[in-house]
Amino acid sequence: LDTVLGWADEVRLDESAGRGYHVRVNADNPEDAELALEFGAEAIGLCRTEHMFLGDRKQIIQSFILSDDADVRAKALEDLLAVQTEDFVAMLRTMTGRAMVIRLIDPPLHEFLDDPRELAGEIARKEALGQDVSDARERLRLIDGMMESNPMLGLRGVRLSIVYADLPLMQVRAVASAAARLKLEGFDPRPEIMIPLVSITEEHVQTRAVAERVIAEVEAEYGVKLDIPIGTMIELPRACLVADEIAAHADFFCFGTNDLTQTTFGFSRDDAEAKFLPAYLHEKVLAANPFETVDPAVLQLVKMAVDKGRAVTSEMHFGVCGEHGGDPTSIVDFFNTAGVDYVSCSPYRVPLARLAAARAKLISER
Ligand code: PEP
Ligand code: MG
Repeated sequence: LDTVLGWADEVRLDESAGRGYHVRVNADNPEDAELALEFGAEAIGLCRTEHMFLGDRKQIIQSFILSDDADVRAKALEDLLAVQTEDFVAMLRTMTGRAMVIRLIDPPLHEFLDDPRELAGEIARKEALGQDVSDARERLRLIDGMMESNPMLGLRGVRLSIVYADLPLMQVRAVASAAARLKLEGFDPRPEIMIPLVSITEEHVQTRAVAERVIAEVEAEYGVKLDIPIGTMIELPRACLVADEIAAHADFFCFGTNDLTQTTFGFSRDDAEAKFLPAYLHEKVLAANPFETVDPAVLQLVKMAVDKGRAVTSEMHFGVCGEHGGDPTSIVDFFNTAGVDYVSCSPYRVPLARLAAARAKLISER
């Protein structure tokens, strides 16, 4: 198998006949990054930083979100900065010499909060035992106030960075400090910052300005020069339509085809597959599950955005990091129809993606 994969790499990376077709990995921890390198990934195409806020760390982000005490919030941010910096140091060290695309926090903030139904149950139990529940009630009130009817279409992605401006400040500082520390230790960190769920150019412009300011501050503090590209996820139809406008301010586009599929069809990612998609597939309303194999209309949106971006600048690069980035049929379509430079997928799909990318290259040369 290694021999075959080696041939596939020679084919897909051969630039004597057109562009190379690259394969990156979606990884959020050093173990996945190491595994992905063994599987032949060239870089990290998507680090979902919100995964780093789970477990014990949920408590820290909760106190940042729920407290109205400035000191408590500042302490929470300081703690988050410390743990995120260590996360990024570990991963960038593993990936030395290779790109690592780090996405700013994406999901709705209430995902980090206690479940209100569980909390209400706990309050009822404590009340029955005659215990004081005033703090828990206040917490429940705050959490209830944050619940949204359609969280996947609500306060998430870049919207969080605009509304909770301290979050991107903290995350970019963590990325830049980690890179600066590693540079001083002789490593070659190559972080790239990615802004999720952009649909309005101004969202990208404002967040980019914040990121550039923080990077400049960190450069001055450490006395090192950092080169951190800043790009955007294109995962909403509006972003595809105004991709030329966004491209004027972005170093790269990475397509989040999970959200792009959801929002193009208006199918909820969370429900569709269990609720009605099986019937649609059975009745042949759809030829294939669009969350697995890229739908032709979604592919057209990707292509439109790539074309608009390339028309603005030939310097940009384009990737795909939705689940489709590990689907062989979609991989061939992305490279050969939309003209993206890389796909990024989960570690175990990397070998398959390398083969599919080689196939795409062979087909394109015919
Ligand atoms: C996507 O939307 O395709 C994507 C990669 O981001 P996420 O799945 O984390 O929303
Ligand atoms: Mg997404």
